Amino acid sequence: MSKNYEGGCHCGAVRYTGTKDPELTFYCHCNDCQRTSGSPFSMELMVERNSVQFSGELSSYVVVGDSGSPVTRFFCPKCSSGMYLDCDADPDYLFLKVGSLDDASWVTPQMHIFTSAKQPWVQINDGLPQYEKMPDD
Ligand SMILES: [Zn+2]
Ligand SMILES: [Zn+2]
Repeated sequence: MSKNYEGGCHCGAVRYTGTKDPELTFYCHCNDCQRTSGSPFSMELMVERNSVQFSGELSSYVVVGDSGSPVTRFFCPKCSSGMYLDCDADPDYLFLKVGSLDDASWVTPQMHIFTSAKQPWVQINDGLPQYEKMPDD
Protein backbone atom coordinates (compact mmCIF):
# COMPACT_ATOMS: atom_id res chain seq x y z
CA MET A 1 0.00 0.00 0.00
CA SER A 2 1.33 3.39 -0.89
CA LYS A 3 0.72 6.27 1.43
CA ASN A 4 -0.19 9.77 0.28
CA TYR A 5 0.50 12.45 2.83
CA GLU A 6 0.80 16.20 3.12
CA GLY A 7 2.61 18.57 5.38
CA GLY A 8 4.08 22.01 5.77
CA CYS A 9 5.62 24.57 8.06
CA HIS A 10 3.89 26.45 10.86
CA CYS A 11 3.17 29.63 8.86
CA GLY A 12 2.05 27.78 5.73
CA ALA A 13 4.62 29.27 3.32
CA VAL A 14 6.15 25.83 2.70
CA ARG A 15 3.99 22.86 1.76
CA TYR A 16 4.72 19.39 0.50
CA THR A 17 3.03 16.28 -0.79
CA GLY A 18 4.45 12.79 -0.55
CA THR A 19 3.30 9.79 -2.54
CA LYS A 20 5.21 6.85 -1.13
CA ASP A 21 5.53 5.02 2.17
CA PRO A 22 8.62 5.95 4.17
CA GLU A 23 11.53 3.58 3.86
CA LEU A 24 12.28 3.97 7.55
CA THR A 25 11.03 5.95 10.52
CA PHE A 26 13.19 6.64 13.54
CA TYR A 27 13.73 8.72 16.62
CA CYS A 28 17.03 10.59 16.42
CA HIS A 29 18.71 11.52 19.69
CA CYS A 30 21.76 13.22 18.13
CA ASN A 31 23.07 16.52 19.45
CA ASP A 32 22.22 18.37 16.23
CA CYS A 33 18.58 17.27 16.38
CA GLN A 34 18.38 18.31 20.01
CA ARG A 35 19.84 21.72 19.24
CA THR A 36 17.86 22.47 16.08
CA SER A 37 14.53 21.15 17.36
CA GLY A 38 14.78 22.58 20.85
CA SER A 39 13.66 19.16 22.07
CA PRO A 40 15.42 16.11 23.56
CA PHE A 41 15.10 14.22 20.24
CA SER A 42 13.47 14.44 16.85
CA MET A 43 11.60 11.94 14.77
CA GLU A 44 12.18 11.58 11.08
CA LEU A 45 10.84 9.75 8.06
CA MET A 46 13.33 8.49 5.52
CA VAL A 47 11.55 8.91 2.18
CA GLU A 48 12.58 8.62 -1.46
CA ARG A 49 13.64 12.06 -2.61
CA ASN A 50 11.60 12.02 -5.82
CA SER A 51 8.42 10.94 -4.00
CA VAL A 52 8.04 14.32 -2.27
CA GLN A 53 7.16 17.61 -3.99
CA PHE A 54 7.78 20.86 -2.13
CA SER A 55 6.26 24.27 -2.77
CA GLY A 56 7.49 27.51 -1.25
CA GLU A 57 10.93 28.85 -0.56
CA LEU A 58 13.29 26.99 1.77
CA SER A 59 16.41 28.12 3.60
CA SER A 60 19.18 25.72 4.43
CA TYR A 61 22.48 25.34 6.10
CA VAL A 62 25.09 22.61 6.20
CA VAL A 63 26.88 21.01 9.11
CA VAL A 64 28.99 17.92 9.46
CA GLY A 65 26.62 15.62 11.30
CA ASP A 66 27.41 13.13 14.03
CA SER A 67 27.74 10.57 11.23
CA GLY A 68 30.81 12.43 9.93
CA SER A 69 29.27 13.38 6.56
CA PRO A 70 27.63 16.69 5.64
CA VAL A 71 23.99 17.14 6.59
CA THR A 72 21.89 19.96 5.11
CA ARG A 73 18.96 21.12 7.18
CA PHE A 74 16.06 22.79 5.35
CA PHE A 75 13.66 25.12 7.11
CA CYS A 76 11.08 27.79 6.36
CA PRO A 77 12.79 31.21 6.17
CA LYS A 78 9.68 32.89 7.61
CA CYS A 79 8.78 30.77 10.64
CA SER A 80 11.96 28.64 10.99
CA SER A 81 10.07 25.35 11.15
CA GLY A 82 12.37 22.47 10.31
CA MET A 83 11.16 20.62 7.24
CA TYR A 84 13.72 18.01 6.26
CA LEU A 85 17.36 16.97 6.18
CA ASP A 86 19.61 15.95 3.34
CA CYS A 87 22.38 13.54 4.23
CA ASP A 88 25.28 13.24 1.79
CA ALA A 89 25.56 9.64 2.93
CA ASP A 90 22.06 8.87 1.54
CA PRO A 91 21.65 10.96 -1.65
CA ASP A 92 18.51 9.15 -2.86
CA TYR A 93 16.56 9.96 0.27
CA LEU A 94 15.55 12.88 2.39
CA PHE A 95 14.58 12.89 6.03
CA LEU A 96 11.26 14.57 6.77
CA LYS A 97 10.55 15.98 10.21
CA VAL A 98 7.55 14.10 11.52
CA GLY A 99 6.14 17.23 13.21
CA SER A 100 5.68 18.86 9.80
CA LEU A 101 3.06 16.31 8.71
CA ASP A 102 -0.55 17.47 8.68
CA ASP A 103 -1.50 14.08 10.08
CA ALA A 104 1.25 12.01 11.68
CA SER A 105 -1.04 9.48 13.35
CA TRP A 106 -0.29 6.79 10.75
CA VAL A 107 3.48 6.88 11.33
CA THR A 108 4.98 3.76 12.89
CA PRO A 109 8.30 4.39 14.66
CA GLN A 110 10.83 1.64 13.98
CA MET A 111 13.98 2.44 15.92
CA HIS A 112 16.04 4.86 17.99
CA ILE A 113 19.34 6.14 16.59
CA PHE A 114 22.23 8.08 18.11
CA THR A 115 21.25 6.88 21.57
CA SER A 116 24.87 7.63 22.50
CA ALA A 117 23.74 11.28 22.71
CA LYS A 118 20.40 10.53 24.41
CA GLN A 119 19.59 12.54 27.50
CA PRO A 120 19.74 10.34 30.61
CA TRP A 121 16.23 11.37 31.65
CA VAL A 122 14.67 10.24 28.34
CA GLN A 123 13.18 6.82 29.11
CA ILE A 124 12.88 4.42 26.19
CA ASN A 125 10.41 1.65 26.99
CA ASP A 126 8.80 0.99 23.61
CA GLY A 127 10.86 -2.15 22.91
CA LEU A 128 12.19 -0.75 19.61
CA PRO A 129 15.80 -1.43 18.53
CA GLN A 130 18.33 1.12 19.74
CA TYR A 131 21.52 2.13 17.91
CA GLU A 132 24.31 4.16 19.39
CA LYS A 133 24.99 5.74 15.98
CA MET A 134 23.37 5.53 12.53
CA PRO A 135 22.95 1.84 11.62
CA ASP A 136 25.03 0.85 8.57
CA ASP A 137 22.27 -0.54 6.35
ZN1 LIG B 1 6.80 28.87 7.56
ZN1 LIG C 1 19.64 13.67 14.59
